[in-house]
Amino acid sequence: MTECLFCKIINKDISSSIVFEDDDVLAINDINPQAPVHILLMPKRHLTNLEDVEESDLNLLGYIQFRAREIARQVGLDGHYRVMTNCGEKAGQRVFHLHYHLMGGKEMD
Ligand code: 5GP
Ligand code: ZN
Repeated sequence: MTECLFCKIINKDISSSIVFEDDDVLAINDINPQAPVHILLMPKRHLTNLEDVEESDLNLLGYIQFRAREIARQVGLDGHYRVMTNCGEKAGQRVFHLHYHLMGGKEMD
């Protein structure tokens, strides 16, 4: 069994508040939101972070950004939002399954 928290969420071994799901991507509400909208988008396939990404994953990365934009529109962020990923512990990564934070709904500094 996987030890990865987000793999467990993807497998539904741990419950989460799902915003969007398809064969490749899961988007969930962050458990500890730092903004009125704080959604995590992750590939269903386990990749540790951007360091794991290969050229064959470029469509997937582009798709995640596109999906972030679509979700931002759906939740009414009206063209103002942040999409970011932390790569590595020193950059603030705490969960080592690639994910993108979609944040908005307040003035971001
Ligand atoms: P990181 O620091 O790795 O970029 O971001 C990890 C994010 O995952 C944090 O914003 C944290 O609040 C969120 N998180 C950690 N555990 C859980 C969980 O069990 N469920 C959900 N929905 N989010 C989580
Ligand atoms: Zn994982």
